[in-house]
Amino acid sequence: MLNIGGLTRCTTIDYPGELAAVIFCQGCPWRCGYCHNTHLMPQQSGTPIKWEEVIGFLESRRGLLDAVVFSGGEPTMQAGLHGAMLAVKKLGFKIGLHTAGVYPEVLEQSLPLAEWVGMDLKAPFEEYERITGIPGGEEAARKSAELVRRSGVPHQFRTTLDPYLQQNGRIEAMQQMVAAWGEELVLHRMSPMPVDIDRELPGEEECRANGIVERT
Ligand code: SF4
Repeated sequence: MLNIGGLTRCTTIDYPGELAAVIFCQGCPWRCGYCHNTHLMPQQSGTPIKWEEVIGFLESRRGLLDAVVFSGGEPTMQAGLHGAMLAVKKLGFKIGLHTAGVYPEVLEQSLPLAEWVGMDLKAPFEEYERITGIPGGEEAARKSAELVRRSGVPHQFRTTLDPYLQQNGRIEAMQQMVAAWGEELVLHRMSPMPVDIDRELPGEEECRANGIVERT
């Protein structure tokens, strides 16, 4: 159903206020220079983590985890996203979605199934090609941001603090744009090291004991 590049079994930082598992969807058409999940960029099938294994794991975590986040890569790149979200919802989990808004048509279909969306804004819209390395991102991101804003789904717009964005007032311009929407832009520091998404993670009790923390 989905090509899955990684699975985080328990996290307190990927869905605000909820204990969640994160499914990392394989594949992203963009090439952001600061991407810390570069191994998730290639679109490939036959990934080592099978959908059936993920569903089996989630069945064993009913009542223990609150939510499942579809992240990436870019989840909206995969035709199986809608069906996967439905399957997870049937298990009783809340659905979170991380997206850069690459495919607004798929995002529009997915929004009714999501309880929370984190949308990455990569740059001032007119500079998307500079950051993503691919033409055409500006229009997609504009459409997707509009869809998220109008959806009524709780959400967050966030940006990774790339050094380029910290020059010439770019971040400030993005903050002003989001403030004009009546919202706040959440800033993430760049990850200094590639993230090991298959690392052994703490159990649910340990996650709960550590409390809910916000990503910074
Ligand atoms: S959109 Fe996200 S996953 Fe894709 S290249 Fe950029 S940072 Fe990486």
